[in-house]
Amino acid sequence: MEIVLATRNAGKVRELQTMLEDTPYQVVPQSALACPEVPETGLTFVENALIKARHAALYTGRPAIADDSGLACEALAGAPGIYSARYAGVDASDADNIDRLLHAMRLIPADGRRCRFICVIVFLSHPLDPCPIIAQGSWDGVVTQIARGEGGFGYDPIFEVPGTGMTAAQISPAEKIRLSHRGAALRSLVERLAQREMSTQPPPASHA
Ligand code: IMP
Repeated sequence: MEIVLATRNAGKVRELQTMLEDTPYQVVPQSALACPEVPETGLTFVENALIKARHAALYTGRPAIADDSGLACEALAGAPGIYSARYAGVDASDADNIDRLLHAMRLIPADGRRCRFICVIVFLSHPLDPCPIIAQGSWDGVVTQIARGEGGFGYDPIFEVPGTGMTAAQISPAEKIRLSHRGAALRSLVERLAQREMSTQPPPASHA
């Protein structure tokens, strides 16, 4: 099944395409279909993921998957949360967002730097699909004092993975998929897609 991936974030596209490699689903990024971005006007990860998936399905005429995700920091009452991509401004780079977050947390001691990556992935079979599949995953960690590592994207260089002494930008891509919020959400989505396909198969001939 060919599915459009409703994101322009190159880091997400890379991770989602890798994770879906051994499944029957071929994902095409929306940029390959000249699908423009849509404003994320929701107040929750779920609403924003639905908005993006519906827009991509409508624009491309294909089933769509959208990921809405972000980092929630305990000391900042859940910020930047759904505003993670634009924390330092509408056109903020990953480095700008990291700088703003490290500045906001500069007085927070080591034992108050707990944080959580959250990911919601939505699948719509068509723009008016009344029963979207909504899958979620989370990943707990600690905000470091300085950025470390070259891998990953977004806030990975300041997200310390518990028990490793490394940030999400220092572990391997395979390890990130195994541990991360996005890996968990996508595994759940793929399982539920498979169940849905099974339940729409015709019964075996002997039952007919
Ligand atoms: P969205 O496109 O509104 O979902 O933006 C999500 C933002 O959250 C990204 O731009 C990143 O800054 C951040 N984010 C989400 N997932 C990750 C991740 O796996 N690693 C690092 N940052 C992430």
